[in-house]
Amino acid sequence: WRRCRMTSIRLGGTIGIIGGGQLGKMLAQSALRMGYKVAVLDPSEDAPARSTCHTFIHAAFSDFDALKQLCELSDVVTYEFENIDAHILRTLVNDYHVPQGAETVLTLQNRDLEKTAIQNSGADIVPYEKLAGKDQLEQFISNHGFPVIVKTTTGGYDGKGQMLIETEDELSTLDIPFDEAEWVVEKYLKLEREVSLTVARSVSGQVIHFPLQENLHKDQILYRTIAPARVDYMDEAKAAVDKIMDAMHFVGVFTVECFIDQDGRLYVNEIAPRPHNSAHHTIESCNISQFDAHILAILDHPMPDVYQHQEAVMMNLLSDDLDRLEDKLFTEPDWHVHVYGKNGRKPARKMGHVTVLTDDLENTLDKLEKNFIKGV
Ligand code: ADP
Ligand code: MG
Repeated sequence: WRRCRMTSIRLGGTIGIIGGGQLGKMLAQSALRMGYKVAVLDPSEDAPARSTCHTFIHAAFSDFDALKQLCELSDVVTYEFENIDAHILRTLVNDYHVPQGAETVLTLQNRDLEKTAIQNSGADIVPYEKLAGKDQLEQFISNHGFPVIVKTTTGGYDGKGQMLIETEDELSTLDIPFDEAEWVVEKYLKLEREVSLTVARSVSGQVIHFPLQENLHKDQILYRTIAPARVDYMDEAKAAVDKIMDAMHFVGVFTVECFIDQDGRLYVNEIAPRPHNSAHHTIESCNISQFDAHILAILDHPMPDVYQHQEAVMMNLLSDDLDRLEDKLFTEPDWHVHVYGKNGRKPARKMGHVTVLTDDLENTLDKLEKNFIKGV
């Protein structure tokens, strides 16, 4: 890349962020607080990070010229959106300062490559196969039994592009569009728990770990996180993450999502090479947030070891939760309210979140549950 690798980014230098969703917004807020300027590229007119940047480039992620423009005006470039075209990303990494590089994100943006890489690292994953056609799906089910879940290899998030198959009937009526996308099938586990571990690694290799997070999903989308997790799996999760980090090169913050099945075994589900919804609580609950850590890591500044002040519960505000709870949000003084500033209310769209720090977890969970369940 053109700028000298040894020159650190000065205060007032510009951090370019590909993607202006809530993750881009919260990254920008950290960067702004530290004294950097922010440039954001996003295809959406009302991208949340539009309000937290000096320069907003309104363009598609596939718009090569616009991405180059973002890089030209940035001293360092990062992303909150991981599905960037391979050819574009490789060119940007060659010509500009993109500390995260291209290869890790290109592997992780494809579920088949991602699972292969995790498996090769020696970490445990749920049995899966890339599907060539329906015959192979039937074969997989006769080997592993129902239920199974079929997922697109690219572009899926928050459970989008996934099909759960539980019975012979569902299998026989199912029409998987093999000509439109590539698919993997995996065994659908009865989960005892889901946990995630968020880690940051700086350019020169310093690593910090956030507390293990316990995640509850509803309809495949994150509903609630409790940190630290109420199950003692930090050592298992860390061991899996260490294997993955030996096999893949990470810079910046990333999160490893894990399943714990009813036999108590931990499997790696997937890896997000960017800030993650399950670590939003770190903004209030830790001495350093995942967003601060990401900015420090890509700028190669030293990071403090993570210390969590207090137990935390994070609840997502999805879609019309925001309207339903609007009158409630600011009546609870211990709710840390985050509203991302999106206009549309598509189903399951992440509109904001609430974090509560607590010394009485059971009571806090009870109270939040009463407020968040629909119909109350
Ligand atoms: P996304 O990329 O949309 O986050 P995930 O693979 O993480 O996709 O799936 C979303 C959620 O769906 C998981 O967090 C979990 O709750 C559920 N899920 C996905 N795959 C499985 C599986 N094989 N067994 C059990 N639950 C699963
Ligand atoms: Mg996931």
